[in-house]
Amino acid sequence: MGLSSAVLRPGLRASSLPVVDVSAEALRRVPKVLLHDHLDGGLRPATVVDLAAESGYSGLPSDDPVELGDWFVRTCSSGSLEDYLATFTHTFGVMQSVSALRRVASECAQDLAADGVVYAEVRFAPELHVAQGLALDEVVEAVLAGFREGRRLAAESGHQIRVGVLLTAMRHAARSLEIADLVVRYRDDGVVGFDIAGAEAGFPPTRHLDAFEYLRRENAHFTIHAGEAFGLPSIWEALQWCGADRLGHGVRIVDDIEVAPGGTARLGRLAAYVRDTRVPLELCPSSNLQTGAAASIAEHPFGLLARLRFRVTVNTDNRLMSATSMSRELSLLSEAFGYGPADWRWFAVNAMKSAFIPFDERLALIEEVIKPGYAALVD
Ligand SMILES: [Zn+2]
Repeated sequence: MGLSSAVLRPGLRASSLPVVDVSAEALRRVPKVLLHDHLDGGLRPATVVDLAAESGYSGLPSDDPVELGDWFVRTCSSGSLEDYLATFTHTFGVMQSVSALRRVASECAQDLAADGVVYAEVRFAPELHVAQGLALDEVVEAVLAGFREGRRLAAESGHQIRVGVLLTAMRHAARSLEIADLVVRYRDDGVVGFDIAGAEAGFPPTRHLDAFEYLRRENAHFTIHAGEAFGLPSIWEALQWCGADRLGHGVRIVDDIEVAPGGTARLGRLAAYVRDTRVPLELCPSSNLQTGAAASIAEHPFGLLARLRFRVTVNTDNRLMSATSMSRELSLLSEAFGYGPADWRWFAVNAMKSAFIPFDERLALIEEVIKPGYAALVD
């Protein structure tokens, strides 16, 4: 299809560059919505060190929080998704007790709230936290209690946040039906959906079809990590075989878009389906840079996908591994593509529309929190 100026949003024009205020403080203050953030990818480095000492975990590459933080970023920047995922053994390795899980969840809610995130869906894989004898139910309850505590502490320091939990099944394992059952059992207690994660190549989502079919019969929601390191077949399976509500990453949908030298874009059938049906893309720019999916933010497909009006959302993926935050991701994108407050609001509303909480609650957050939060910045 051709790109007419009607398709372009005013804030996406290069001419808006000089007036963009991408100061860290401006970005921190505006309400943000985060759909793709891993609990075991967002620990404070100092907390990893503390929890390792408390639990007798001896495998950390450094006991110094600054060095450890640098180690995660460096090791995760090798360009390989497999190397990136290997670093998680140190984070879920220290998250094997009720108190550790509770602390990590509480700090997660507080850190996101302090960064101006008003609604977040945070995911984790219960099956990775049972190495020292916890039952899956105990793992889920510890995390839910941690988020309740974190939300309360954040409110005490003046930041309102709501957190929904996504339970993840590991795609190389065989526990997805059990995890899907947990999602259904805890859906009135703060669990809002299901996900599968882990190395994509060789582990297509259709391996877990029984879990997805069960969730659909139960009217439950799910997203699938697809189209991150692996391309269109993974996205196609996630949508057309499994029935995913959203795509975790989904960035490789650009492989189905041809852009002529003049900027005219032609969408293949899958890309057209994704855009026509408003499938939310949980895009994670910094994470993609580290795993080699894009060479720089300026070359990241986010710019093209936003220009073509896909339902793009901005996400952190793993704040520890990328030393990032929602403000930082927005800042990087704004510097690369000239986004301003109207665009930040669009991304937040896109994400809020795509959240797994009930429609009336999504609408209330959009009308009562997000729009008023941008009122002074956007006409
Ligand atoms: Zn992820």
